Amino acid sequence: MSTFQELGLNKDLLNAITDMGFVTPSDVQLQAIPQLLTEERDLVALAQTGTGKTAAFGFPMLQKIDVDSRTTQGLILSPTRELCLQITNELKQYGKYCRGLNVTAIYGGASITDQARQVKRGAQIIVATPGRMKDMISRKLVDISKIQYSVLDEADEMLNMGFYEDITDILSHTPDEKSTWLFSATMPKEVSNIAKKFMYDPIEITVGNKNESTSNVSHEYYLVNARDRYQALKRLADAHPDIFSVIFCRTKRDTQKVAENLIESGYSAGALHGDLSQNQRDLVMKSFRNKQIQMLVATDVAARGIDVDDITHVINYQLPDEIETYTHRSGRTGRAGKTGVSMVIVSKSELRKIKSIERIIKKQFEKKDIPSGTEITEVQLMSLANKIHTTETGDEIDKYLESINELFEDTSKEDLIKKFFSVEFNRFHNYYQKSKDLGVVDSRDSGERRVSSNDTRYFINVGRKDGFDWMKLKDFLKEKLELGRDDVFKVDVKESFSFFNTEKETQEKVLAFFTDFKHEGRFVNVEVSENKGRSGGGRRRDGGGSRRRDGGGGGRRRSDDKRSDKRYSDRGDRRSRRSEDSGNRSERRSRRSNDDKARERRSENSGSNFSGSDRPRRSRRRD
Ligand code: AMP
Repeated sequence: MSTFQELGLNKDLLNAITDMGFVTPSDVQLQAIPQLLTEERDLVALAQTGTGKTAAFGFPMLQKIDVDSRTTQGLILSPTRELCLQITNELKQYGKYCRGLNVTAIYGGASITDQARQVKRGAQIIVATPGRMKDMISRKLVDISKIQYSVLDEADEMLNMGFYEDITDILSHTPDEKSTWLFSATMPKEVSNIAKKFMYDPIEITVGNKNESTSNVSHEYYLVNARDRYQALKRLADAHPDIFSVIFCRTKRDTQKVAENLIESGYSAGALHGDLSQNQRDLVMKSFRNKQIQMLVATDVAARGIDVDDITHVINYQLPDEIETYTHRSGRTGRAGKTGVSMVIVSKSELRKIKSIERIIKKQFEKKDIPSGTEITEVQLMSLANKIHTTETGDEIDKYLESINELFEDTSKEDLIKKFFSVEFNRFHNYYQKSKDLGVVDSRDSGERRVSSNDTRYFINVGRKDGFDWMKLKDFLKEKLELGRDDVFKVDVKESFSFFNTEKETQEKVLAFFTDFKHEGRFVNVEVSENKGRSGGGRRRDGGGSRRRDGGGGGRRRSDDKRSDKRYSDRGDRRSRRSEDSGNRSERRSRRSNDDKARERRSENSGSNFSGSDRPRRSRRRD
């Protein structure tokens, strides 16, 4: 079965599904919907947020309830107000063609009288947080004695938050004959106990493995001295200019402090924790959704129910006390078919927790180094260059250009590019030139490949937006270059470009291969990276610019290479690329000469300790 029609949904729901643009049912929907539609059974489903679980229970519930009746027939319990509102909105959208449908949200922090009034109007479905629901039951403002379907959504979260008593109390007011559908991302003992206690012979569904994180998320850890944690966080942010992230702290106090520090340092950050009023939390979430906030610093409890699909990174500023919570944190990224990265900043004493998490999520972490100042500067410059390259221009700016052109009348294109990029370069270079490396030697590394001066680090102009994460890029390079499992390492994927290392002896092969290589219609550009740091091993940048020999002759692959015929057949394309290349070359030259100066200045400054201002100031985003 592969379409919504085939699942047995009625016309009203199918029309809404078309309106929402859903084309194929998700795994949990495929498994749950047909059974829930045809059988009156209990269900236990292991599924994370982002898997489409709301529709998995929502569609069957909407189809089965009687919208002509004003009796409450369905009750959905969810851990937070945010999630409660989210589910309510989703159900309203799914049921937009079900005439007479009334779905009501019940949660704390809003007028109980208003909510009671809405229920009285005849809510067939109530979506509630346990605390407020219990309150309304005790005040006799709701009647759930006739419900036929109850859903425990994010059951593990509800139990983590201490709602066990409330849930059992609420369920004691519901009829025994109802069906109970339980959804949980993880299956700790407490959840299976609740399933045993309240459910009879449930259908069991697992999407992915128990407690396992989604395959779209890669996991990285960064070992630092505990006192460098905040500096490490800033570097991670600086090394990812397009970051849109949730940063998890253990306590409300730390959450507030980290957010305040980031704001003070010029980042677009906000705090989300339980000491804020509901109004403040709503405002922060609104700014985050609108991307006015790039870094949301949150506690685990407050972040529950954050339903934002395009979070690029989750950063564990501190690891959670309960290791299972890591699954929830990392599940905030890699949603809706996108890839994401979950980063952990750890000190030596917490290192063993990484092993435990690996066992739980059944995935390996990649140990990475906190980016060096040089690396960050390069990333920022290339990001800016890419942004400028792809910026669309309009006529509105024309009236200002005359005087700008006048100012630069005597400046050559090369100098202009150099000056332009130096604005960004100086900001990061000045800030980072005196900073120390933040890396710490990890004893886990002893058996691993160590980066040495025999390595070459490369820049490659494909990144996350081309569908790569570090694993995919590593596989891609291994396959194309016909290299072994450990021959490509230190793969670091950014939004529109990436870095990787090979042994120095492979350098020629790598550069020769990528002299004229196209991936999905686009030329892939690989060059030796300036950025050495801990990951580049201090080798010289020799030959970085020499690989693309003019005229295409020198760098050509052997004519007996089957792939070459295809690549060389597109003459027009090559010609246009060559002119594009010459632009890139001069840009690279300008970057290199700046880097050379940076090197000189660095050696002049060597020996001085890091004492710079808080960060390279960046202008605040206005949008
Ligand atoms: P959930 O796991 O219920 O929080 O759903 C995550 C997101 O996926 C929500 O924004 C849904 O609207 C969306 N969604 C649910 N089912 C589908 C589907 N079959 N196709 C595309 N998007 C879906």
